[in-house]
Amino acid sequence: MTRHLPVTTSTRTLALLGDPVSHSLSPIIQNAAMMARELDGVYVALRVGSEDLAGLMRGLAAAGGGGNVTLPHKERAAAVVDRPSEAVRRTGACNTFWMEDGELHGDNTDVEGLKRAIHTHLAGPIQGARVLILGAGGAARAALAAVLDDGAAEVEIHNRTVERARAVARRMGGARTRIVESRAELQGRTYDLVLNTTRLGLEAEDPLPLDPAGEVEAPALLDLVYTPGETELVRRARAEGIHAMDGGEMLVQQGGVAFERWWGVPGPVDVMREELDRLRRRAR
Ligand code: NAP
Repeated sequence: MTRHLPVTTSTRTLALLGDPVSHSLSPIIQNAAMMARELDGVYVALRVGSEDLAGLMRGLAAAGGGGNVTLPHKERAAAVVDRPSEAVRRTGACNTFWMEDGELHGDNTDVEGLKRAIHTHLAGPIQGARVLILGAGGAARAALAAVLDDGAAEVEIHNRTVERARAVARRMGGARTRIVESRAELQGRTYDLVLNTTRLGLEAEDPLPLDPAGEVEAPALLDLVYTPGETELVRRARAEGIHAMDGGEMLVQQGGVAFERWWGVPGPVDVMREELDRLRRRAR
């Protein structure tokens, strides 16, 4: 990718903070979006330990920049910001930060991003649906908020560490949410939509979070994980005739909302999606 705008002393630095960050495609889509809108910014990825997170968030934002936070720091980031958005307060997770009037603001654009990705995938909201969420980390909290807002009738959460799933349900689940404690208990259950919010699939050698060949019955699946190619879960689900999509569309949609927080104008999601598709075509 060629950078058309020169980096100068007035260029704003936006950064993705996480560990690992090497898998992230956010720099590709955000730099393409800034170029398309001729905005003077540069987006980089920094591998950051939890001890440096708060200092980097404040420092970058105070210098006129901002950024995103990814795993495993989203929960910690929620405690760092001075002005958490409603989505941050509700989920206890923050993925986007910036400075306004001397205060560090934080939002969780994964909530809106996932909602929009689900609408793209299923051609509309999931009013009345039964949803299974696999995982109970920061992404699971965003997923639970998104599907409850969207009118899901019942949401079940299954996570390797049961106590973590209980904590998510207690924090924000309400009457429509329950826990499935063991993987054996999942067998044969029926859902309208399955969301994988675990990190399984990031590494090629990861086991599947769920066997799409009949472990549960569901016509649609959205894997929040994305890789330059297709995730194994999506590939196997499609082979079973399940309408499956990976986390690329959510990446684009949450990135579009984050772009708006930094620049005050809607993110060009068409440009971001095109850039992602171009990269993926090259990776195949
Ligand atoms: P996180 O807070 O670190 O949570 C990780 C989750 O994965 C936990 O539920 C954890 O279970 C589970 N897990 C990890 N290793 C496992 C294993 N070996 N077996 C079973 N479960 C395992 O991470 P996160 O922020 O929620 O992110 C999760 C994934 O979502 C990442 O791959 C991230 O890239 C993706 N994501 C994508 C987008 C997007 O825009 N597409 C946005 C947000 C997140 P335990 O609780 O038992 O450890």
